[in-house]
Amino acid sequence: MKLLEGKNVIITGASRGIGKGIAQVFGQHGANVAFTYSSSEAPALELEKELSGMGVKAKAYKSNAASFSESEELVAKVLEDFESIDVLINNAGITKDNLLMRMGEEDFDKVIEINLKSVFNMTKAVQRTMLKQRKGSIINMSSVVGVKGNAGQTNYAASKAGMIGFTKSVALELGSRNIRCNAIAPGFIETEMTDKLDEKTVQGWRDAIPLKRGGSPEDVANACLFLASDLSGYVTGQVLNVDGGMLT
Ligand code: NAP
Repeated sequence: MKLLEGKNVIITGASRGIGKGIAQVFGQHGANVAFTYSSSEAPALELEKELSGMGVKAKAYKSNAASFSESEELVAKVLEDFESIDVLINNAGITKDNLLMRMGEEDFDKVIEINLKSVFNMTKAVQRTMLKQRKGSIINMSSVVGVKGNAGQTNYAASKAGMIGFTKSVALELGSRNIRCNAIAPGFIETEMTDKLDEKTVQGWRDAIPLKRGGSPEDVANACLFLASDLSGYVTGQVLNVDGGMLT
């Protein structure tokens, strides 16, 4: 059964990793996928081709999620190309890890802008369309780190915790118009983002996971599929942990 047949979706940061996994699973479920990247043009165009081969409409857009004006322009272009927006997935994110003692102001600001302000930019940009449609699902990619904190990631943890507060507030503001907003808190997911970590840190994460393995982009994509589809029609304001039991 295709759960997203004919739905139009925007995913930020889908040139690789979790975003790419979401785009692939959504394409398999019949969604038309508009997605962004910041610099990885070649892999983005490759993904666009792969999705088009599934018989859905797909388009890659170069757009900096941290920019308010670029986000507005992006949503206007997507509406021209796709006509409506049923689902927004705020997935774009970066890390710039360091102990607080050594963290520079620039690295704090950059992580907050790309991970958190982007969510404000994109949600605001799609809001009018979803209000007119009287339906929509917004999914914000938070992290276990936003729920429990992590040494060496004060900037990242603050951005991901901020996303949870934002999610719950949007759910309260827009629920009466049938617009749902939820967050996903992935644990340790094996992507280029986690490739940067040293082996000792990775082993530490794995040891702490009851299911004793890192997650895959597809694990997260399947949770997104539930939150994007009508199966979760009575679910809003929630944080879904996709972490192999890490937060248990
Ligand atoms: P990733 O492999 O590093 O991919 C990040 C994606 O975001 C890329 O497509 C990148 O595009 C895009 N991006 C970066 N900056 C952007 C910007 N300013 N505007 C638009 N797109 C931008 O990361 P990932 O592991 O898939 O993570 C995806 C999301 O899940 C992030 O929000 C991350 O914080 C969250 N998360 C990840 C994990 C994990 O273990 N991996 C755990 C919890 C939460 P370019 O390639 O063009 O730069």
